[in-house]
Amino acid sequence: MSTNENLPAPNNFIRQIIANDLKSNKHNGKVATRFPPEPNGYLHIGHAKSICLNFGTALENNGTCNLRFDDTNPEKESVEYMESIKRDVQWLGFQWDALWHASDYFEQLYQYAVQLIEQGLAYVDSSTPEQIRAMRGTLTEPGIESPDRSRSIAENLALFQRMRAGEFADGQYVLRAKIDMASPNINMRDPTIYRIRRVHHHRTGDAWCIYPMYDYTHCLSDALEGITHSLCTLEFEDHRPLYDWVLEQLQTPCHPQQIEFARLQLEYTIVSKRKLNQLVTEKHVRGWDDPRMPTLAGLRRAGVTPKAIRDFCERIGLTKQNSWIEMGVLEYCIREDLNENALRVMAVLAPLRVVITNYPDDKVESLELSNHPQRPELGKRSVPFSKVILIEQDDFAEVPPPKYKRLVPGGEVRLRGSYVVRCDEVIKDADGNVVELRCSYDPDTLGKNPEGRKVKGVIHWVSEQHALPAEVRLYGRLFTVPQPDNEENFFKRVKS
Ligand code: ATP
Ligand code: MG
Repeated sequence: MSTNENLPAPNNFIRQIIANDLKSNKHNGKVATRFPPEPNGYLHIGHAKSICLNFGTALENNGTCNLRFDDTNPEKESVEYMESIKRDVQWLGFQWDALWHASDYFEQLYQYAVQLIEQGLAYVDSSTPEQIRAMRGTLTEPGIESPDRSRSIAENLALFQRMRAGEFADGQYVLRAKIDMASPNINMRDPTIYRIRRVHHHRTGDAWCIYPMYDYTHCLSDALEGITHSLCTLEFEDHRPLYDWVLEQLQTPCHPQQIEFARLQLEYTIVSKRKLNQLVTEKHVRGWDDPRMPTLAGLRRAGVTPKAIRDFCERIGLTKQNSWIEMGVLEYCIREDLNENALRVMAVLAPLRVVITNYPDDKVESLELSNHPQRPELGKRSVPFSKVILIEQDDFAEVPPPKYKRLVPGGEVRLRGSYVVRCDEVIKDADGNVVELRCSYDPDTLGKNPEGRKVKGVIHWVSEQHALPAEVRLYGRLFTVPQPDNEENFFKRVKS
């Protein structure tokens, strides 16, 4: 029996592709995915979509999922970022089968590049970056071949070896794949696959002064790990021919299948590590884990649970069309999870004093309130009740708006888990502000409805003499506009 047999029908195009591949035994019945972050920032909610997809796909199909750091840009990467990424993936609830770094493959990648040169499929170019850009052509015009394109294989091998040995200055030479300068796909116009950069690497130290480019590195890393399905975001669609070209030219253990999906774009926030980094370094926020940030570290500090994020990622689904998701969808998932799992306590943020005139002065009752209204197994807690209580200012209205169910002058309301009280008198200060309510309680209404009257509203409260001071941090949205990403000075839209 295949592992898929008991699962519901695939509800997105990637599940469909994988179900078909398993049926046709395309990758020997295996599913192997990877999550490949660049350690140049903290993970954000967009990455969560990719994490849930990659790890989820492996879990659903009895497959494996690797965590791979795509660490080919040493100047922007750090150990701090790597550690935060590992912590956040685990916090989301996933465990990788293997942990790799693109830098683990530097020697193999170098040897593969030598093979490309030997096959006449790569050459060392002395053109400057500006010249290379100028010769690349445009969408409507073909590129121009570099004069170095016809360099002999022997010369290319010698130069590439000297690049590695550190004989040249940064930028003096690059290694380019020899594909097609007239290709309609600009990515295929002899892309650079190695550049000289004298930068200390957080893992390989100063062992290398040449570093492989992303497009060249990614497909080979996937192949070396035996990845079957390489899931990435839509902007890599135009890079797929290059992904496939590299793997077709070289003898690699396998040829993974690149599949693109739409990246998450969430309103009122930003999902670009570069821009989030700018918010942090320019101090528009307090750090990567500022609770307003869409980073997993920020969401965690804001009290969001991993389950809420996983639900969100499932709910938004997978498509090939870029679209914006409303922040309300995430907020809904957060509330759903908290509603189901959070233990209840009562807190009053903007207090209004209520004196219960017919309650004995020194009496204190210990009321038993359930910790969760729908889950008795979560037990009960004792909450003290006394003559003076605090309620929320918003839970009283002198002139109620239509359909207002809470406390009004002369009206009744239930104090949660306690009695029904009626508002007899409203006390105001010299400016006419309400400062206190005088209420009376009905001693017959503890845990049961008053006879003959309907009390619709239920409000929370705390006993004034028993109340504990608490610091409550309320976080709103980070930005004042729904699509800050589309604005040049997006950081000016951070809510102050
Ligand atoms: P950023 O623009 O934030 O730097 P990135 O794609 O450069 O994003 P990576 O570290 O390379 O960041 O991302 C690791 C993985 O997460 C990639 O496979 C990438 O496609 C995926 N990913 C990044 N952002 C999103 C997003 N908004 N929605 C879905 N997947 C994403
Ligand atoms: Mg990237």
